[in-house]
Amino acid sequence: MQQASLFEDEGVQRVSWEPSRQAGLARLAHFQPLAGARYAKTRNFDLGVEDRSNVSCLSPWIRARAVTEEEVLKQVLQRFDVYAAEKFIQEVFWRGYFKGWLEHRPSVWHTFCQNLEALQQRMATDEDLSARYQAAVEGRTGVDCFDHWAAELVETGYLHNHVRMWFASIWIFTLNLPWQLGAGFFLTHLLDGDPAANTLSWRWVGGLHTKGKHYLARADNIARCTQGRFDPAGQLNEFATPLWEEGDHFMAPLVPPATWPNPRRYGLLISEEDVHVDSLPLPTPPAALALLPVAASCGPVDLSPQVVAFRTALMQDAAAAAAVAATAASTEAPCAILAERSARHLIDWAQREALDAVVMAAPPVGPTRDFWLWVMHELNAAGLDTHTVTRRYDQLVWPHATAGFFKLKKKIPKILTALNLQ
Ligand SMILES: Cc1cc2nc3c(=O)[nH]c(=O)nc-3n(C[C@H](O)[C@H](O)[C@H](O)COP(=O)(O)OP(=O)(O)OC[C@H]3O[C@@H](n4cnc5c(N)ncnc54)[C@H](O)[C@@H]3O)c2cc1C
Repeated sequence: MQQASLFEDEGVQRVSWEPSRQAGLARLAHFQPLAGARYAKTRNFDLGVEDRSNVSCLSPWIRARAVTEEEVLKQVLQRFDVYAAEKFIQEVFWRGYFKGWLEHRPSVWHTFCQNLEALQQRMATDEDLSARYQAAVEGRTGVDCFDHWAAELVETGYLHNHVRMWFASIWIFTLNLPWQLGAGFFLTHLLDGDPAANTLSWRWVGGLHTKGKHYLARADNIARCTQGRFDPAGQLNEFATPLWEEGDHFMAPLVPPATWPNPRRYGLLISEEDVHVDSLPLPTPPAALALLPVAASCGPVDLSPQVVAFRTALMQDAAAAAAVAATAASTEAPCAILAERSARHLIDWAQREALDAVVMAAPPVGPTRDFWLWVMHELNAAGLDTHTVTRRYDQLVWPHATAGFFKLKKKIPKILTALNLQ
């Protein structure tokens, strides 16, 4: 009863994830007054799909940078000071922390992909593993809350943060399924599915990120934070030991931000990793724009049609906005939609537009980075220069994401000052 009163003021609020920057900004404007003490007090409650009034639900837009972290922080800090919105601000920085951490240890992503691929192959012959996996993803395990959330994820493309923690914990420690298969299931269906946030969160739950420290879902916590909608008492393994893995991952230095060459006739390649062209640190406007088709897979994981459609529409929306901006600035940069993620299509576009160089927002560790590293050589061989631009936010955050979150957390006030946000 006591918890119910926390939510009385806002009433129910179902979120529809419309794939446009406008819709993301509208959600941000709506959430802004709730980002202070109310968020800190209520954010751990999963009130169900009909009521998302206690969290921002901004992650699908932030994932594609249709709305940037900087914009989110700016809006919130216009209403609250850094202490009043401390909890929410920290959550936003968790994303930068995971992105930066994976930049330092890209082998974690590549090992995850290899292990997942091996598990996918194993399921072709291991009937027990395959049956238990199918029961989990189809919501037939008999653990009511888990089964409900599996269906909710597939239907909506979103799960509340606390639910993700419970779900991953039950997957690993109660159902005894490999964490990589669960992380793959999330990547397939989450609108915000992200190589860094997803892989590292699953590892965090399992006890691999902070070695030896795992997250165990407890039935009483689930009952309390779902306000009694679920109570898996007696069904969960609440005493499991953390996962363990052999070896350590080599820490690679960050790729330093590239220095921009003399302004030339360059084309901007837009990918699903960073769609907000207007806020990219470009010294001169591009002569032409091209949309890289959204990847249908992420590593060995096929993405759901819902995820592909969402990201594709966000990119089209971004391209339309860039075209309007170009017309307003009388630069008239044409925007092409590439038919394929291939060197041939990129080179044809660059030659058609008489470009000297192809530029893109520095793609973070994941499939778009892998594509870029490969295609760069093809573009260079065709006589085109290639460059990336790194946002200042990433430049300020990533160097501190080498160990635990605390190291970055201490730097948040300085970073906000450097960004002129406080
Ligand atoms: C197992 C597991 C898998 C996850 N997979 C993803 C993923 O693929 N993509 C993803 O963006 N987040 C992931 N998260 C983090 C978190 O659950 C979501 O970012 C959050 O639930 C999104 O909802 P929201 O926008 O309402 O968050 P809010 O609570 O409103 O937070 C605001 C923003 O801060 C960022 N954020 C908040 N919490 C986290 C966090 N713990 N880690 C990283 N960023 C955070 C998000 O961009 C979010 O939109 C995962 C967490 C777990 C436990």
